[in-house]
Amino acid sequence: MSTQTKANIPDVTLNDGKIMPQLGFGVWQVEGDDIVPSVKTALEAGYRSLDTAAAYGNQPGVGQAIRESGVPREEIFLTTKLWSDKHGDAMAGIQESLDQMQEEFLDLYLVHWPRPKQGLYVEAWKGLIACRDAGKTRSIGVSNYTQRHLTEIIEATGVTPAVNQIELHPYFQQREMRAFHADHSIITESWSPLGQGGEVLRDPVITTIAEAHGKTPAQVVLRWHMDLGLVTIPKSVTPERIRENLDVFDFKLSPDDLKKIEGLDRGQRLGGDPATADW
Ligand code: NAD
Repeated sequence: MSTQTKANIPDVTLNDGKIMPQLGFGVWQVEGDDIVPSVKTALEAGYRSLDTAAAYGNQPGVGQAIRESGVPREEIFLTTKLWSDKHGDAMAGIQESLDQMQEEFLDLYLVHWPRPKQGLYVEAWKGLIACRDAGKTRSIGVSNYTQRHLTEIIEATGVTPAVNQIELHPYFQQREMRAFHADHSIITESWSPLGQGGEVLRDPVITTIAEAHGKTPAQVVLRWHMDLGLVTIPKSVTPERIRENLDVFDFKLSPDDLKKIEGLDRGQRLGGDPATADW
């Protein structure tokens, strides 16, 4: 059913006092003719948070979908990310993203990867602070920063990121990072929350819990992210799945369900290791 109204999604409060929806829509690898209809379907279904990046090549489509959706811009929490080629000039990066989306401001701007070999991740963070001070974005954060990178940028600037967006799913639960973030009032945002739709969703622990609740494996995994207090941004181009992924607020996982899912952690990354990734 298309509602055009905000779904019943809880908010989290960031360390700068701003509010962010706990569940949003991610658009990595949503390309070509898919981007505009997918984002419009998500907004119609009730998503009010969108996660894109300069590197995804789909910012113009995200902007177009927002304009065509009829949803007021003020109702939408819009995130994009600075790519590593612009670590030395974040202001140019954010302006290019805003221009591509035909937007005046972002809600959240993230440094996409630290790319330690390039050695500009502190510089990039200083650039994001300047973007915020110039009113180009309301909040600033990072993605794929390790504890070392976070410590360095906080020490260098005195400004703590509102969010660190990191790979996190039942096979890669990031307990240490979550504890570090909690200690520093940084919100943990899970990327690839569904394990990219792979093995995690076929795991017998997940499918058994799903059957018991009359929900799908994806809904159980997303409910788990919600129960851990994480922010997340599942991606799909299939309208039924886009709606399914939002329909996670009418059931609860039991303490026993949560314990079983906790037991699935294998320390298994699907993406790059931020300590070494050179992109
Ligand atoms: P995801 O875990 O959200 O999985 C998406 C895939 O899962 C889909 O392509 C589809 O195959 C499957 N799927 C989706 N809904 C389903 C359902 N209901 N039932 C069954 N299968 C389903 O993976 P993702 O796209 O990698 O991550 C989500 C978002 O996180 C991205 O779109 C992007 O916005 C962000 N992200 C950020 C980074 C980063 O470096 N910051 C890296 C990767 C992803």
